[in-house]
Amino acid sequence: MYIDSHTHLSDDLLIGDIDKIISDFSESGIEMVFEIGSDMASSRSAAKLASQYDCIYAVVGCHPIATDDVTEADMLELEQLAKGDKIVALGEIGLDYHYDIDHNRQKALFVKQIILADKLSLPIVVHLRDAYQDMEQILTENKQYINNGILFHCYSGSAEMVDRFAFLDPYYAFGGAITFKKNNRELAIKAVPQDRLLIETDCPYMTPVPFRGKVNNPNYIYLVAEKMGEGLRMSGEEVGVLTNINTKRFYRINK
Ligand SMILES: [Zn+2]
Repeated sequence: MYIDSHTHLSDDLLIGDIDKIISDFSESGIEMVFEIGSDMASSRSAAKLASQYDCIYAVVGCHPIATDDVTEADMLELEQLAKGDKIVALGEIGLDYHYDIDHNRQKALFVKQIILADKLSLPIVVHLRDAYQDMEQILTENKQYINNGILFHCYSGSAEMVDRFAFLDPYYAFGGAITFKKNNRELAIKAVPQDRLLIETDCPYMTPVPFRGKVNNPNYIYLVAEKMGEGLRMSGEEVGVLTNINTKRFYRINK
């Protein structure tokens, strides 16, 4: 059985099709998915979806590109939301220097949410793009607040960075990008200990080959598993079993 560790089913591109998507889960061998918030609205939606569907768990938090919109009141609401049923982590939080958003403000929001997660004894799901040095520095400086697990989602960094982050014993999720022609993910995947590997779709984005260009959804997760398996000399099903166990360990699901 597969687990999709990172979805955005409440995105406008998918929300109308959600019942159909979920009804296909049994045929696709999908046991559960983790719906991720990226701002206050999507965090509320994630919590709501988790309350409506048995197979959905929720992660709430504010993505760095939402930085300029997040208020103190939002942080208080986020804390309440994160205490809810089936809310299993804080995320996606982190740094994204691809966009022109003040780096210091991004860092401040990220650190605030790291500390909040620690207060709530929750793991964190990290978004990281074009900001490896600052990420390493922040995580080093705030290591005392990272006690419940850390996951780099849609990891696009190098194998060398995997070594540099090893002091945190992180988990790494890989998505549709590993199926694209030009990618250097195989070395990074091999650098990650096998009990720290996860798979994700990050739907509706990052649709794996051969469906690239279409709207992504969790039923395509087997394509990510098969591709990851090529480098590890495992079948897609074996990757499914491995990442299923790892995902439940990271999010602390006792099923
Ligand atoms: Zn995401």
